[in-house]
Amino acid sequence: MELNKNNLNNNLNINNIKIKRPYGETDPYAIVELVAITQMQGSKYNTDQMPALSARVSHAASGKTGENVERDLGLMNYLAQNFHMTPFEHQSATFKIVTPLIVARQWMRHRTQSYNEVSMRYSADPVGKFYMPDVWRLQASTNKQASLGQVADQEVCTKILSDAYNNSLNAYNKLLSMGVCREQARLIVPVGNYTEFYATANLRNWFAFYKLRIAQDAQWEIRQYAQSIGEILESIWPNSWSALKNSNK
Ligand SMILES: Cc1cc2nc3c(=O)[nH]c(=O)nc-3n(C[C@H](O)[C@H](O)[C@H](O)COP(=O)(O)OP(=O)(O)OC[C@H]3O[C@@H](n4cnc5c(N)ncnc54)[C@H](O)[C@@H]3O)c2cc1C
Repeated sequence: MELNKNNLNNNLNINNIKIKRPYGETDPYAIVELVAITQMQGSKYNTDQMPALSARVSHAASGKTGENVERDLGLMNYLAQNFHMTPFEHQSATFKIVTPLIVARQWMRHRTQSYNEVSMRYSADPVGKFYMPDVWRLQASTNKQASLGQVADQEVCTKILSDAYNNSLNAYNKLLSMGVCREQARLIVPVGNYTEFYATANLRNWFAFYKLRIAQDAQWEIRQYAQSIGEILESIWPNSWSALKNSNK
C-alpha cells in the first residue's frame, strides 16, 4: 500500500476548490463540489491523521501520532480491517450536489447524511434544467433493477425525452402564467429535472455511501456521483480513505 507521508506531515490546503462533473464536461448541470471539510486547530496534525489520533486516546497516547507515519497508517488499516469504525467519524465533509431528481431520491435514503435542498416552492429557477442521458440502456431481463447494453435507436429515445421535457416546461410556464402557485405548478416537473442540495457526513458514512453506490448493482446515474465523491475524498484524505478501501468491510 502506498504511504502518503507528505499528507501525514503537512497541513492540508484546500484553497483549490474541488469540483467534479460526474456526467462529463458536456453536461451543463451535474456537479459534485467540495464545500467544506473538518480543519485542525494548530499545525501539529492534519485531518488525514484523525483516525489514528482519535483511536490512540484509548491509551492516552494521541501525542504519538505523527512520530512514525508507517505506524499511523498501520493503525488506521487495523482499525478499518477490524471494524473499529468510530475513529473514522471525526472527519466531516460537505458537498454541493447538482443531480437529477431520480438520483437525489436514491441519495437521500442515506440517513446519516445531513441535507438542505433547493425548494421549488420558493423558486422556479431549477425547473427546466433537465438530464439527458448520453446512452440509452436496455432493460436487463434477469435482474429487474438493472440495465445492460444499448438500445438500437438512441436518437429516437433522445427525441422522445426531449419532447416530453419541452411539453413539461411549457405546461409549467403556462400554469405560472395563469397565476398558479409554484408549489402546485411543480407537480408537472419530471424526475429528470436537476435539483441541488448540500450533503454533510463524516468519513465513515461517506465511505458507506460510496461502497453501496459505486457497486455494479447501483444505477449508473448515481455511480458516477459515488465515483466523484470517492475521488475527492481520496485526494483530501488519502491515508484514511485507503485504510477504508483496503478493509473491504
Ligand atoms: C443497489 C441498491 C438498490 C436499492 N433498491 C431499493 C429499493 O428497491 N427500494 C428501497 O426502498 N430502497 C432501496 N435501496 C435503498 C437501501 O435500502 C438503503 O435505504 C440505502 O442504501 C441506504 O443504506 P443504509 O440504510 O445502510 O444507509 P444510512 O441510512 O446512511 O444508514 C447507515 C447505517 O446506519 C444504521 N441505521 C440508520 N438508520 C437506522 C434505523 N432506522 N434503524 C437501524 N439502523 C439504522 C444502519 O446500520 C445503516 O446501515 C437500494 C439501495 C441500493 C444501493
